[in-house]
Amino acid sequence: MQKTDIASLGKFNLIAHLTATVECTQPSTVRGTGDDAAVLHYGQAETLVSTELLLEGIHFNLTYTPLKHLGYKAVVAGISNIYAMNATPRQILLSVGVSKRFFVEDIDELYDGVKTACAQYGLDLVGGDTTPSMTGMTIGITAIGEAPKEKIVYRSGGKKTDLLCLTGNLGAAYMGLQLLERETRVFDGQSDKQPQLQGFEYILERYLKPEARKDIIDTMAAINLTPTAMIDVSDGLASDVLHLCRQSQCGVRIYLERLPIASETFRMADEIHIDAVTAALNGGDDYELLFTAPLSCYDTLRKELQNVDIIGHLCDASEGAFLITPDNQTVELRAQGWK
Ligand SMILES: [Mg+2]
Repeated sequence: MQKTDIASLGKFNLIAHLTATVECTQPSTVRGTGDDAAVLHYGQAETLVSTELLLEGIHFNLTYTPLKHLGYKAVVAGISNIYAMNATPRQILLSVGVSKRFFVEDIDELYDGVKTACAQYGLDLVGGDTTPSMTGMTIGITAIGEAPKEKIVYRSGGKKTDLLCLTGNLGAAYMGLQLLERETRVFDGQSDKQPQLQGFEYILERYLKPEARKDIIDTMAAINLTPTAMIDVSDGLASDVLHLCRQSQCGVRIYLERLPIASETFRMADEIHIDAVTAALNGGDDYELLFTAPLSCYDTLRKELQNVDIIGHLCDASEGAFLITPDNQTVELRAQGWK
């Protein structure tokens, strides 16, 4: 198929082309794309805004990331921050920088993923920008959401006896990324191993097409449980739990044997001789929610939240931040990304 040069359309026609099928369905969207600014009306609710910048070569590699998945993941990265405030995302703005090697059809694919995520999470795409780039692709995503003032959960609300809770499992996306990197080296002829992706569908999906934990936020609203503090785990549990502790002015104890790790994550970690627990602590890209709740919520948490594990508890700031190993050793918790 003949690909369409972006220059043949020009910026304004490209934007018109990309947004032609965009429809707004949220009551809070008064005016979406097509004017100088979107107009939003949130009435009595508080408005929440969060932005993420994704750079080719730093945050994603297009050798193994399909553009449609990248579009979907960019939206998830943006709205995960809104859910982490116990709020509901309603609108997104998407800005894309594209170098000469991309065609109109490529940007269409990226938008396909963005639109799929919008349909999945009930979001309106209400604006953005498209501009030429000298250095590959750049994606800026801004998410806007709402919540009643009394429902908003900050990182700072944790109390020193609160339970520390985590949705889903950790380290899977990081292991998916390791697998994709390994297969890329095979493809480039830098390794004599055969490509092998079978049996690792789950970790690949966790890296390529993550989901934001809307389901947990909805369930917590339904059972009337409001966390005391919350953060989304995007940079790795170790780093993100320390943010929560610092802002809540608390210490923490995390029991390593309680860290939820999927079997595929363990299997991949074994294959490439990485410690799965280290990946769980420092991997990143998990998009799970880490939150605290009073001890009195223990039964409710156990009974009503199937996908949530209690991995530890907060304590007095003077007691510091420590991991407890299965044989009862304590190890100081440090944020140590892989890069
Ligand atoms: Mg965040």
